[in-house]
Amino acid sequence: MNQAAAITRTLREEDIAVLTFNEPEKKANILSKRVLDELDSHLNELAEMPLAGLLIHSEKPGIFIAGADLREFAVSLDMPAEETAAMCRRGRQLFQRLSQLPFITVAAIDGVCVGGGTELALWCDRRLVSNSSHTEVGLPEVKLGIFPGWGGTVRASRILGLANAVEMITSGQSLSPDEAVKMGFAEDQIAAEHLLSAACQLIRAEQKTKQFERDRKAWDQPIQLGETELAFLGATASALIQSQTKGQYPAPLTALEVLLEGSALSADEAGELESQQLAQLWGTPVNRALINVFFLSDRNKKDSGVENPTDQAVSEVRSVGVVGAGIMGSGIAAACVKRKLPVSILDAQQDALIRGTRHVLEEVAYNKQTKKADAERLTEFAPLVNATTLDAEVATSDLVIEAVVENADVKRQVLSRLEAAMPAEALLATNTSTIPIGRLAEGLAHPERFCGIHFFNPVRKMPLVEVIRGEKTSDETVLRAVAFAKAIRKSPIVVNDSPGFLVNRLLFPYMNESLQLLTEGVPLKLIERMAKQFGMPMGPITLYDVVGLDTALYAGKVMWEAFPDRIEASPLLLALVKAGRLGQKTGAGFFAYPDSKKGKGQPDPELDKFLEAYRKDAPTPDQETITARLFLPMLLEATRLLEEGIVRDVRDVDLGLIYGIGFPPFQGGLLFWADRLGTEKILAMLKPLESLGPRFQPTPLLDRMAREGKKFYQE
Ligand code: NAD
Repeated sequence: MNQAAAITRTLREEDIAVLTFNEPEKKANILSKRVLDELDSHLNELAEMPLAGLLIHSEKPGIFIAGADLREFAVSLDMPAEETAAMCRRGRQLFQRLSQLPFITVAAIDGVCVGGGTELALWCDRRLVSNSSHTEVGLPEVKLGIFPGWGGTVRASRILGLANAVEMITSGQSLSPDEAVKMGFAEDQIAAEHLLSAACQLIRAEQKTKQFERDRKAWDQPIQLGETELAFLGATASALIQSQTKGQYPAPLTALEVLLEGSALSADEAGELESQQLAQLWGTPVNRALINVFFLSDRNKKDSGVENPTDQAVSEVRSVGVVGAGIMGSGIAAACVKRKLPVSILDAQQDALIRGTRHVLEEVAYNKQTKKADAERLTEFAPLVNATTLDAEVATSDLVIEAVVENADVKRQVLSRLEAAMPAEALLATNTSTIPIGRLAEGLAHPERFCGIHFFNPVRKMPLVEVIRGEKTSDETVLRAVAFAKAIRKSPIVVNDSPGFLVNRLLFPYMNESLQLLTEGVPLKLIERMAKQFGMPMGPITLYDVVGLDTALYAGKVMWEAFPDRIEASPLLLALVKAGRLGQKTGAGFFAYPDSKKGKGQPDPELDKFLEAYRKDAPTPDQETITARLFLPMLLEATRLLEEGIVRDVRDVDLGLIYGIGFPPFQGGLLFWADRLGTEKILAMLKPLESLGPRFQPTPLLDRMAREGKKFYQE
């Protein structure tokens, strides 16, 4: 059966042709092989037509072109380098024909334009962007461990200038319409409804001046740059990239080299260099891992939170009540208000309510662009905030989230009081980080309308939300909670009830092991270094100081009570808390923070006294063993989570850790990393560690997988 066309050709005026991208039954326009073939046929026919110009645009709401088809990429990762280079060459030469047609070509961009979409636009002679807030232009390929491979490096450096191209390509960050014009990507930004007529005017103007023909000639040539300028750009950009990627993400640095070297070549030679170099990154472990992360996040966006959801729409959360105006409550309230949801916020303490409300208002008023409070934002958002001490005002919301102190009795009391005042169809949720949902649901008349909605601290920065399903939570409650989290731009993962849920359950074995190593005499610095070399954003011991040793002790208690065979109630941690060394917030924890409470920790000789008191005799492990000891307990715990059915899919484990604790994306996720090692290797790594106790003994799932030759990611 013939599929309906993704690109249609029409005439806007008698001599101006329009190619309209609108792939049927898809939310986005994607440059799959099939779509590229269609483009190829259109270009063949257009080349023979007596036209003044060609316009390219999209009729997909909010999207111009969302890039290449990553599913097609993912199955070709094993391709030999020569084939990869040839594939890039074909794509580039196809787009290049846009710049060789006997008339001017203009891309009229409204909506998201990224990756291959941006490269296609760059091969046009001119670009216009709409000034809509949904319009963005980007070359995010480095986030997949590659760089633009259809001539993007060649065209961007010639059209935007080399320095701008370096910034855009090596950072992978998108440009707003404003930035796109300032950087020279687009001629102008226009209201979406006037975009096509503006593009026609541009064609008419260029018909007279023929400037595009002179630009074509210039852009075929090397870029004229002095050697000093080039060396300066190379040195500054490479220093910035090194500091950001720490040598763990090779693509930005390779892209920089391609851009610099390609600038001294003709466009065709630079294109060939681009194809050859891209082939070197294709299929590397980092490329595969980052493509996996892309699919994890894509899957998460489409996941409703339950198996086989019915087509019936769930009722939307249109107002939110937050009880407890502390760190978390005020963060949650601000996240809702920023997405235009009215919020009533309550606290038992008047001063806490005032402090929390001020925090909400400060956060919503903050303008990221100007890095200052913005009176206009404040005027827009402030009416959505209702600070109150009356239950009745909170209880009328569609969803009420309690974020009071982590104490089961207090929480239970608050929850039943709220439930009694809430309408029958409203949702009730808790932000508890450790207390089982089942325990908190005990006194409720309608446990089916209750679940955990667990945000991470700081709410404004952390994308993850765990939606915790109690035994009695209904599907509808889960669906509504997931839809709510997505509406406030978070990434919800649904997990079943368990101590520590998903993220804390996996984090504690890792943090616990770091203290074990420390008490065995492994230098603190070395433990931190091995974690960071693995790719963690900070070492586990610094993490204790950031979280607060008291908080870690409190949450840890839940974990060691639940799993005493593998998590130790660390006497060292207890002693430090007793001594008032709570971490950054008190100026000392494992490290000292002499200058201010925040900032980088300094080694603290005072710590040695504590370490001496709890020092165990043990042989000194080598560096490889330290890494294994940190990450294998986390992995084994993940296999237990899978066996117990706490998570619905291995992918939830991987995304949860990436979004929740910054597990290194270049490893692809914990279980993706484990698949790369293979079960045999993992068992061999565990063997010498088994004497340390049950926390290093292979789990039944791991044994079974090894016997059956299985992987976590099965097709
Ligand atoms: P917090 O101490 O900053 O705030 C708690 C607030 O609740 C206080 O303002 C307090 O006055 C108020 N409160 C106490 N009892 C109340 C009652 N009966 N009625 C109304 N208000 C009451 O605490 P937090 O860090 O915001 O934590 C809140 C919840 O979120 C806890 O369950 C905690 O485990 C969870 N959590 C915390 C973090 C974190 O990193 N802080 C992360 C995830 C989840």
